[in-house]
Amino acid sequence: KFSIFILLIIFRFLSLTVLLTLGDDFGYDGITGPNYWGERYRECAGKHQSPININILHVKHIILPDIEFIGFDDSIDDVHVTNNGHTVLIEVKNEPHPRVRGGPLDGDYIFSQMHFHWGDNDTFGSEDTINHRSFPMELHMVFFKEEYGTPTNAVKHHDGLTVLAFFYELDRHQHPAYDDITSALANVTEPYTSVAMSHPFSFLNILPYDLKRYFTYKGSLTTPPCSEVVIWLDFEQPIRLTHDQIETFREIKSAHGKITHNFRPIQPIGDRIVFYNIDNSYFSYNTIDEDEEEHKDTHPKRKKHRNNAQNILSNYTLILCNVLLLVYGIHLSPLISEVSFTTDF
Ligand SMILES: [Zn+2]
Repeated sequence: KFSIFILLIIFRFLSLTVLLTLGDDFGYDGITGPNYWGERYRECAGKHQSPININILHVKHIILPDIEFIGFDDSIDDVHVTNNGHTVLIEVKNEPHPRVRGGPLDGDYIFSQMHFHWGDNDTFGSEDTINHRSFPMELHMVFFKEEYGTPTNAVKHHDGLTVLAFFYELDRHQHPAYDDITSALANVTEPYTSVAMSHPFSFLNILPYDLKRYFTYKGSLTTPPCSEVVIWLDFEQPIRLTHDQIETFREIKSAHGKITHNFRPIQPIGDRIVFYNIDNSYFSYNTIDEDEEEHKDTHPKRKKHRNNAQNILSNYTLILCNVLLLVYGIHLSPLISEVSFTTDF
């Protein structure tokens, strides 16, 4: 039994050496899979790793300053799509690159690259999960802190990178902004190939509408070397794509065949806190109320006067609504009964 054990260890060591010399230093299955990353890359066994599961009940609500998305609506014309053997990368060649600041970030972060993580089918594939819900795909937009000069140098600092993460969910309708990406994918199915995108590209077009609600926590790169240098911003509103649009990503090949999945399993959250930033414009109503309270004593007449005007206006509106309801109610009543009649079946 002991000799079989030794043989197994030797076999594993040899096959790992072969794979490493072939330049394939990590994968998502078998002996190059996530469970073994820590053996070669010490940081992958760290205590503040990504991805994590975000438990909504345990997040801390905060109101951060707005994030500024600079250059996100620019039409960028020199964009390259690359299959690096692990994922699909989108890189921008024009200067200046888009950047972000604000939110939990201290200073400016410059765009480096964006890439995707997906699963074998539409029921899983995202890296972070929310209440253990997985999404079919996830977008990572990677930015490095301007003061560190380059992405390579930024990775040496605990606040070197920020990643804007977006989840995808299924829709019956095509997302037109993704057509250029999916048609480029057809030209980079082979590993280590790259193609220029055929049309100008705007960041904002591929993102969801709501960029105010997001989760944020400190974590790591989700691929080796797993450096714990990332301020994660996970946006709550998913991007909606069709099954066929997501399926295009599953056609991408590594040196070993189709990349059917490339997400790392969730890591222990440890002593970390996940913050949840909610839209702060919601709270601005309360701020107005407080202001009015403050002015109440100094300008009581003005406030009273305006209240009277408001009351009169709302009374007239109410009367008007009642009259309209009465008139239309008579006309609508046969229609309503017809509707309720059909719904009984
Ligand atoms: Zn990623």
